[in-house]
Amino acid sequence: MTTRRKFLTTSMLGSAVVITGGDLLVRNGSGTKNNPIVISTWDFGKEANAAAWEILRNNGRALDAVEAGVKIPEADPNINSIGYGGLPDREGHVTLDACIMDEKYNCGSVMCLENIIHPISVARLVMEKTPHIVLVGDGALQFALANGFQKENLLTPQSAKAWKEWLKTSKYEPIPNIENKTTDKKVEEVPGGPKNHDTIGMIAMDSNGNVSGACTTSGLAFKMRGRVGDSPIIGAGLYVDNEVGAATSTGLGEEVIRIVGSHLVVELMRQGLKPEAACRNAVERIIKRNPLKAKSIQVGFLALNKKGEYGGYALQKGFTYAVKNGKEDRVYSAKSIY
Ligand code: ASP
Repeated sequence: MTTRRKFLTTSMLGSAVVITGGDLLVRNGSGTKNNPIVISTWDFGKEANAAAWEILRNNGRALDAVEAGVKIPEADPNINSIGYGGLPDREGHVTLDACIMDEKYNCGSVMCLENIIHPISVARLVMEKTPHIVLVGDGALQFALANGFQKENLLTPQSAKAWKEWLKTSKYEPIPNIENKTTDKKVEEVPGGPKNHDTIGMIAMDSNGNVSGACTTSGLAFKMRGRVGDSPIIGAGLYVDNEVGAATSTGLGEEVIRIVGSHLVVELMRQGLKPEAACRNAVERIIKRNPLKAKSIQVGFLALNKKGEYGGYALQKGFTYAVKNGKEDRVYSAKSIY
């Protein structure tokens, strides 16, 4: 019998579409299937989403999708805040941070890893092949090399040039990627004002309704040697709870760690908030701690719930995120407080 909440049609191929309380599920021979979706931070997320989508649309695992997706910006020498081509620390070393989490609270992380182009894949191996969750520095490198990863120089001529330029003043000042209020351009487009940090955080839900996430970055440019931000810290830069959804963050990591930002967003969604409202709430908590500081930094959160609803929120204008599902493939500008 057809009711308002449950509508069923059967196609000639024997598959069916079920609409339950507004959610679209695809039913096939192997049970009920969800519509997959992938979301990720910043404009470069669009290309990363395309790689993830190839896996999702073939009914692959969300975990495989997020790993494949974030590997795109990791390998791109023109993105100066992730993987190969990332800006170095103040001593000239490119140090990478990444973490990954699946639908069963399995997670892995590497921090301050050098000379390996895909830290996300090392993080996944930490998750799958060790009894641990986090490996750092030399230990992480040793583990990567023992598992067949190749040592590579990640400092591109472009990044080396930027570092040498920075050495002239050695002014330690992370520049947030916010829109320039006078020209309405993003800071990265303003001469003399290149952005120097931005992370890819990616969340996907696969056709089985399982959620996973990945987060990878070179962290703050010209940071102190050994500095680690929020991105590889489970709960701060990324959190997945398959009952609720997932969240990820970008921006000044120190502020995100203090509030365990991504975990907070997921818990707020558990309490009933929609993704955008949960992200806004977390941003407001950062402001509450230090309203003055919050005005001059950037933090953005991005979240997805189990219904496939998504949303983001940032401190400042300029935070964008990319979404791809069966219906759309686009970049959104997140709302912001300032
Ligand atoms: N969250 C990163 C960090 O603090 C940087 C960024 O996303 O811009 O290392």
